[in-house]
Amino acid sequence: MTEQEVTHGAGPLDDAHAQLAEAAAHLGLSEGTHRMLAASRRELMVAVPLKRDDGSIAVYKGYRVQHNYSRGPAKGGLRYAPGVDLNEVRALAMWMTWKCALLDVPYGGAKGGIAIDPREHSQPELERITRRYTSEILPIIGPTVDIPAPDIGTDEQTMAWIMDTYSVAVGHTVPGVVTGKPVSLGGSLGRALATSRGVTHVAVLAMRTRGIEPTRATAAVQGFGKVGHGAAQLLAEHGVRVVAVSDIDGAIYAPGGLDMAALTAHASSTGSVRDFAGSENIDPADLLSLDVDVLVPAAVEGVLTADTAPLVKASIIVEGANGPTTKAGDGILADRGILVVPDILANAGGVVVSYFEWVQANQAWQWSEDDVNARLADKMDKAWQDVTAYSIEHAMTLRQAATALAVRRVTDAHRLRGLYP
Ligand code: NAD
Repeated sequence: MTEQEVTHGAGPLDDAHAQLAEAAAHLGLSEGTHRMLAASRRELMVAVPLKRDDGSIAVYKGYRVQHNYSRGPAKGGLRYAPGVDLNEVRALAMWMTWKCALLDVPYGGAKGGIAIDPREHSQPELERITRRYTSEILPIIGPTVDIPAPDIGTDEQTMAWIMDTYSVAVGHTVPGVVTGKPVSLGGSLGRALATSRGVTHVAVLAMRTRGIEPTRATAAVQGFGKVGHGAAQLLAEHGVRVVAVSDIDGAIYAPGGLDMAALTAHASSTGSVRDFAGSENIDPADLLSLDVDVLVPAAVEGVLTADTAPLVKASIIVEGANGPTTKAGDGILADRGILVVPDILANAGGVVVSYFEWVQANQAWQWSEDDVNARLADKMDKAWQDVTAYSIEHAMTLRQAATALAVRRVTDAHRLRGLYP
């Protein structure tokens, strides 16, 4: 076993490897091919020094992992969170490979991160750390090499700093080096809400599959950031009664439904969803077991576990987050007949519109928002049909089907390209 393959106790990487192993067995892959797909192609660990506003120097750990680039440039988000470590970034990079293959966008998978809590830093500090991290990973990123995007703790401003740092280093402006940029810098219309739009699109498809009318359905959303907030808002626009949401500071519940516009204003003025008028504060752990039709985990990995999965009352789970369900949790949810729309399908709207943004940047062209949304809906519909048809044909869960389809596409690329030398 190589160091990369020793993952016992590695959390999300264990889950990612277990999913790959299952797909490899189903597809009859050779042990060698399985080993190639289990290992990241390239991993960079960097120390990121930061001159703090008070003049002291702090040093943070940064990572960029390219899991696979057989189908095109590596693509994946950049996460700022205190718990970021190499194995988490490896897992997230591997899931990006499968997500891009499943949605048939011409990318491989990557992910990056810095072990830092962005809430403890001023904007000037965040700018300095982003620019220094970018210059440390600069040799392995680029518009045809590896293209970062926002993830937990990063946003369009972070992407603008990365684009600027990269552009200054190479001597000309390169909008295609990142996606999720501000629209005024070549970002795509529709990108900000794209992940949430995709989540909502498949949530509605899943409700139809289960004979649930969205206007009679209820939902709970964990996480109120870029993905969770947008999903709650768009579900409400589809007539779904969103009764509970949470963030890192707490959770709220209103059985009659939350007023999204008022909640958005409250969260932006107070920094949290807690203490929202007309709702009750609840224990964040209880959000997962509320009696709702649809549960959308849209925060972090590993929340639906052997302990929490038995308590879920929702009949549909739509994974806005990457890796919210552990292997043990997944088995329990499947046994209980709960329909889980897996992350690599459910939250793929972000990378699909990132791809559209990259295409627009490379062509110096801007599509209308309607055009972007229509193309996104087509991509999500096609992936949903592929996954549901495969799951019925092979009597598999949606996750098993999605992973198998994606792994098969990546394996096909490996086979056609051949093994060099
Ligand atoms: P974000 O930083 O914008 O928001 C994260 C939210 O989760 C915040 O509300 C935060 O308070 C909350 N949170 C953090 N830790 C929590 C915890 N332990 N318990 C409960 N809530 C917690 O991040 P985001 O971009 O919305 O990403 C959320 C998830 O969606 C991540 O798993 C990310 O990888 C995934 N994702 C994001 C995108 C994207 O386009 N941004 C695309 C695909 C998948």
